[in-house]
Amino acid sequence: MMNFSGKSVYKGIAMGKVLLLDKGGEQVKRTHIDDIEAEKKRLEEAIENGKSQLQQLYEKAVKEVGEASAAIFEVHQMMMEDEDYLDAIHNMIESEQINAEFAVAQTGDNFSDMFAAMDDEYMRARSADIKDISNRIVDNLLGKAGMSGDSMEPSIIVADDLSPSETVQMDKEKILAFVTVHGSTNSHTAILARMMNIPALIGVPMNLEEIHSGMVAIVDGVNGEVIFEPDQETCLTAMNKIKDQEEQRLLLESLKGQETITKGGRKIHLYANIGSVSDVGYVLENDAEGIGLFRSEFLYLGRDDFPTEEEQFNAYKTVAQTMGNKKVIIRTLDIGADKQVDYFNLPKEENPAMGYRAIRICLTQTDIFKTQLRALFRAAVYGNISIMYPMIISVNEVRKIKAVVAEVEKELKELGIDYKIPEQGIMIETPAAVLMGDDLAKEVDFFSIGTNDLTQYTLAIDRQNNTLDAFFDSHHPAILKMIQMVVESAHKAGIWAGICGELGADPELTEKFVEMGVDELSVSPSMVLKLRKMIRDMSTTTPDFGR
Ligand code: PEP
Ligand code: MG
Repeated sequence: MMNFSGKSVYKGIAMGKVLLLDKGGEQVKRTHIDDIEAEKKRLEEAIENGKSQLQQLYEKAVKEVGEASAAIFEVHQMMMEDEDYLDAIHNMIESEQINAEFAVAQTGDNFSDMFAAMDDEYMRARSADIKDISNRIVDNLLGKAGMSGDSMEPSIIVADDLSPSETVQMDKEKILAFVTVHGSTNSHTAILARMMNIPALIGVPMNLEEIHSGMVAIVDGVNGEVIFEPDQETCLTAMNKIKDQEEQRLLLESLKGQETITKGGRKIHLYANIGSVSDVGYVLENDAEGIGLFRSEFLYLGRDDFPTEEEQFNAYKTVAQTMGNKKVIIRTLDIGADKQVDYFNLPKEENPAMGYRAIRICLTQTDIFKTQLRALFRAAVYGNISIMYPMIISVNEVRKIKAVVAEVEKELKELGIDYKIPEQGIMIETPAAVLMGDDLAKEVDFFSIGTNDLTQYTLAIDRQNNTLDAFFDSHHPAILKMIQMVVESAHKAGIWAGICGELGADPELTEKFVEMGVDELSVSPSMVLKLRKMIRDMSTTTPDFGR
């Protein structure tokens, strides 16, 4: 047995076989071959398989993240047909009489280095794609099971770290749990795990060389523990916990369709957080009453260029239409800090979390901001959309936003385009916004507290840095005091206040939040029914702040 502790992202338990995603990849061995034609045939088959895997990935990604983000898989298919690339591989096989996998790996490295040295930024970015397609062909030649193939059995995914594009490729039905050496609680993997009710541990100090695919493991998100090769007794205990978990799930099912209201009659608006259009499925499945945070920046990630107004409009409209008359709060672009996108060409910064990000980008590069606002105002015609702005620190910023909104409205009106200016609020995620709450509340329609950033800026603890865990206290009295201040500022001005940061889903604080007068909690879809049950069991009578 090998035990490791990590940071739990979702408190579930899973047991099953490990699928190790070894991205370092072993060195491909060079071997001498006699039958050149047979080797070329093997290569041809591996490429054909690669192309059909990419086609499947493309179709899956179109459904899950939209056509623009899926396009990368089409590009990869075309790269597999590139004549220069194929000629170089064939030449190596023929002239050096070597195995196809070595020829592909070597050519992949050569081409990738060549692209990496180019001046053109677009071409430089292709370097990683060449590596990617070469690895896929090598894996096919070596007969390694892919992450997306039908052959994959339900597995516990173990990896050093997982990128958004890797998680998008996975067949989500077949993931029992995630365990990674790196990653942060706010990484895409973590968000995805919570979205899908999948146990996940990050920051696990395991040595991947001691772990191999096929090993049995137990991931216990409740105790923040992963156990490789558990003994029989440990397996039995885990099986009992899994059974309890299933019973609990069925109990929660019965809460679907019920109101989120305390016994004392206090109503809480219980919404869900999402990162992509396809996440709406989890929102509906868990019966959230709306979407309290749609992190729109995910539409900008994992691609080579800005999403167009039309692409954005379609994404927002789809979410709004799918949610019917339920509220959908879309947060404008929050790029920067941990969410870096090459094509934004953001400057390298010493301290990006406190740098050029979010609304600061939008108010400087107003073209980007206006495109998003146009898409949002047009989509607002199709459902119950609200907009919120991130990282606000001053009233002046809100006024600047209003000026841009007025410009966009004027343009849409002049062009005779159908639009609606929806309810607009701000995120309270900086200490300055808390302190300026009374003034800000007079300017906007609602407040949504982003406790992830508010905690990092208040406690001066980088939210990405696992090594500071010993100093991190998410229940720090300063944070709770700030939440109370925000709610009071909001109510004084007659607007509502909610929480959309991770703290909003902390069951240890739910009762406190309700008593404080928090009007809305927006949490990962997997937490909705759990919190509804807790709230329905409370007797709190704090008056409902009518909205
Ligand atoms: C927050 O900061 O709490 C928040 C909800 O925004 P994000 O996690 O996307 O920064
Ligand atoms: Mg934030």
